[in-house]
Amino acid sequence: MHPKATLNQYGLSPKKALGQNFLYDDQILAQITTAAEINPDDVVLEIGPGIGALTKHLSVVSGKVIAVEIDGRLMPILEDQLDSYKNVEIVQADILKLPLRVYVADGFKVVANIPYYMTGILLRHILSGDRRPSMVVITIQRQVADRLTAKPGQMSLLSTTAQYYGDIEVLFGIKAGSFWPRPEVDSAVVRIRIHPGPLLNKDEEESFFRLVKIGYSQKRKQLQKNFRALGYPSSKLYKILSEANIDGRRRAQSLSIEEWMELTRALSRDISPT
Ligand code: SAM
Repeated sequence: MHPKATLNQYGLSPKKALGQNFLYDDQILAQITTAAEINPDDVVLEIGPGIGALTKHLSVVSGKVIAVEIDGRLMPILEDQLDSYKNVEIVQADILKLPLRVYVADGFKVVANIPYYMTGILLRHILSGDRRPSMVVITIQRQVADRLTAKPGQMSLLSTTAQYYGDIEVLFGIKAGSFWPRPEVDSAVVRIRIHPGPLLNKDEEESFFRLVKIGYSQKRKQLQKNFRALGYPSSKLYKILSEANIDGRRRAQSLSIEEWMELTRALSRDISPT
């Protein structure tokens, strides 16, 4: 059934503020499900199930689906639509306020067609949360997908954060006409294969993200200028940069993940602020 007809039955209309553009092309829903390489033991966290179209596909191939939807108005639809899908647990909550540990163990998969405005904050919530997913398959704005997979020279806070956690691929595009209501932009499906374990220990990881944040605080400025905010005297700063083999005149967008890690290690080896 067309999402418009389903919503009409319940006297509802989509809420723009929640990014409600419903995907109703069954072939694409199947392709998204295939992209997540789900097996019968997998627990899938679906974020923003809407009226449950993707949830049904996920339910058929996985062990369990936890579908977290913020919009209470959609609960009766989800309950009716998913009544016979016994491995689906519907949770009415804001995903950003949900502690993952209550619902999933490490190794879960995330599948989400999320509102475009929350890509960055949602990825941070999931990737740095208290449970580690093994894979994330998200449908996002095409331009954001391209930013996520940027290479050194074009990097951003978003791509550095996401690429630290895993390997990212843009799988395929989705035309705006596959959604109702039709969004103003085209979308793409992105897969992140999360590294099996963290690349840095906990303290180093904190330091990595602090450095990255400071490095990007004024992204057109040279790194050495942004890093002054760390509170180190120039001589120490230059020492750390040179130990990491990084020219302080470079800009954050030119650094690879490996170089940020080198910088983090040089910092933790070397010094404490004076
Ligand atoms: N998955 C459905 C589909 O593919 O047709 C709906 C996708 S729609 C783009 C995004 C969904 O995310 C909406 O149902 C919206 O209500 C929900 N949503 C928005 N913000 C949310 C949040 N913070 N937590 C959970 N769900 C959210």
